[in-house]
Amino acid sequence: MGLIIYLNGEFVPEEEAKVSVFDHGLLYGDGVFEGIRAYHNRVFKLKEHIDRLYESAKAILLEIPLSREEMAEVVLETMRRNNLREGYIRLVVARGKGDLGLDPRKCSKATVFCIGASITLYPERFYEEGLEVITVPTRRNLNEASSPRIKSLNYLNNVLAKIEANLHGVLEAILLNQEGYVAEATGDNIFIVKNDRLITPPPYAGILEGITRNTVMDLARKRGIQVEEKLFTRYDIFNADECFLTGTAAEVIPVVKVDGRIIGNGVPGPVTKTLIKDFREYVYTDGPFIFNE
Ligand code: PMP
Repeated sequence: MGLIIYLNGEFVPEEEAKVSVFDHGLLYGDGVFEGIRAYHNRVFKLKEHIDRLYESAKAILLEIPLSREEMAEVVLETMRRNNLREGYIRLVVARGKGDLGLDPRKCSKATVFCIGASITLYPERFYEEGLEVITVPTRRNLNEASSPRIKSLNYLNNVLAKIEANLHGVLEAILLNQEGYVAEATGDNIFIVKNDRLITPPPYAGILEGITRNTVMDLARKRGIQVEEKLFTRYDIFNADECFLTGTAAEVIPVVKVDGRIIGNGVPGPVTKTLIKDFREYVYTDGPFIFNE
């Protein structure tokens, strides 16, 4: 059965949800987006995702033709129209239809769409056994270029890194920044555990400040675990006690092998396992309801 899509003020069947080939979102990757999850009739961290969308849009001088409240309602109504209580939501604001030149002044109105769908997850065995990942030659975008803090439609570096992972037969890639410090995975943030401390790269390392990342840092602090945002290298990952990734789609997923080095004991460690459990419990407690209870 096809989905109902929100597109520029209307809810339309998937086959009718069409955007122009002159949209600069398509021609130039000129736009911003969010990936959001719903769990058990609630949209997890909806406010945080909407805020990040508007902050990304501000950074690229893109005016969104809806208020934050209206945008939140678009997300909830998209889920309702599809009768979804859980799933993955993709919210996109593209620069809109222009001409073939890249000047955005030719794009009179942003294109806004929202897709609510069910989600394909990593198989449960990866949460039990952990992932093998590699670091790849493609570097994360420079902060001074198109900042990785902007969740823009320009994901080509991430796509290239994913292809490099695919070529090596692993599911995920770690990107380093220009200085060789660890930044993040293609669609997830990275954490290591060393001597009972949780360490993750700071925003200026060239990362997207993940909402899952922030949630996991809070959950760790609630457990009395010390959390540090600091730069680290591949060496620090190889010699970490534990390693995991966080993201809306993957949630908290253990990493047990990086560039052929076994991390810790080669199985998900106690801190990772605790945070997976805490996160899975916490997701049911946050966010506005989709349907009245
Ligand atoms: N880094 C990148 C590059 C991402 O695309 C994502 C997914 N949005 C993340 C990190 C994780 O962010 P979040 O926890 O907000 O999904």
